[in-house]
Amino acid sequence: MTTEAASSILTIDLDAVADNWRRLRDAAAPAVCAAVVKADAYGLGIDKVAPALADVGCALFFVATLDEGLRLRALLPQVDVAVLGGLLPGTAPIFLRDRLIPVLNDLGQVERWRGECAKTGQAGAAILHIDTGMNRLGLDPREAERLALDATLLDGLDIRYVMTHMACADTPSDPLNEIQLARFKAALAALPGLKGSLAASSAIFLGRDCHFDLVRPGAALYGINPTPGKPNPMRQTVRLEGRVLQVRYVDSGEAVGYGASRRFDRPGKIATIATGYADGYLRSLSNGSLAHLAGHRVPMMGRVSMDLLTFDVTDLPEGLVIPGGLVELLGEQYTPDDAARDAGTIGYEILTSLGQRYARRYIGAGA
Ligand SMILES: *Cc1c(COP(=O)(O)O)cnc(C)c1O
Repeated sequence: MTTEAASSILTIDLDAVADNWRRLRDAAAPAVCAAVVKADAYGLGIDKVAPALADVGCALFFVATLDEGLRLRALLPQVDVAVLGGLLPGTAPIFLRDRLIPVLNDLGQVERWRGECAKTGQAGAAILHIDTGMNRLGLDPREAERLALDATLLDGLDIRYVMTHMACADTPSDPLNEIQLARFKAALAALPGLKGSLAASSAIFLGRDCHFDLVRPGAALYGINPTPGKPNPMRQTVRLEGRVLQVRYVDSGEAVGYGASRRFDRPGKIATIATGYADGYLRSLSNGSLAHLAGHRVPMMGRVSMDLLTFDVTDLPEGLVIPGGLVELLGEQYTPDDAARDAGTIGYEILTSLGQRYARRYIGAGA
């Protein structure tokens, strides 16, 4: 027996994710293309997404935390796994044991990693993160200067890449892009022989100058538009279908949902859907999103509840929306970027909020 007939359904297209990776790889070649799979592969499920990417040739993965790194290591024994959060005190032996690559964010971490590697005789692989203007993680300008004056601080380490991260890459005209690029070039020039990595999804589309030796896309792999304001060069990867629980007729003058925030000014029809803010359907979409059914657009009416959504289906042809049926909440016609615009957020938050209560279906190779 399956309970899927009673659930909303989240379908994740692994072929589309793999295809997006190939597009980014080709756009950045000859630079190497990694994949950022932090936060459970942006909510899509690292257990399925990472192996699908490894199958098409991705050999370097970035995660945010040590725990994410350990989970990925257990899934994929052969690939390189880098942990963006850095090398916190007491964790170096775990990094070594599981062959995880720490992203070293300050000189203390560099020293700690050297010490641990010297103890065990291993050439510790690492990525060195230099901050060029985001002021979040990475060596600050004074530390970068110290390193430039004394490269022996890296002795015994296998520095795979020197990386930095851009604050405004999704806004090509922002002057900070040029500033960060210039600072990064200067930092690399002071560390001869080391490879560079600057671009996440959006910076891949800022041009060759930003590719260096390695690019680190996340969002674009999952279909978020890395070039806001221009056509999306990526494929959509998720489709969310909400289960219809009830279809009801409402008299003119009646309101729908908590707070009675919207009223019918004509006799209407409401479809109540089995999805809510507990599933990551943001409450800020109340009275402000769309669903689709057989090519028809249906507007949300009322507030988002914990487990329920209400859509105005008054204008749909009779018989199209029925209990047990499905309406499309996210997909080609209303993308995570569309939902983000309507919710006042970014597509990243829409994806990483996707709940665990949906029946999850994976399609494509590796499903
Ligand atoms: C999250 C992250 C990325 C990926 O960014 P996207 O915009 O999702 O492509 C790359 N590098 C660093 C340091 C990150 O934190």
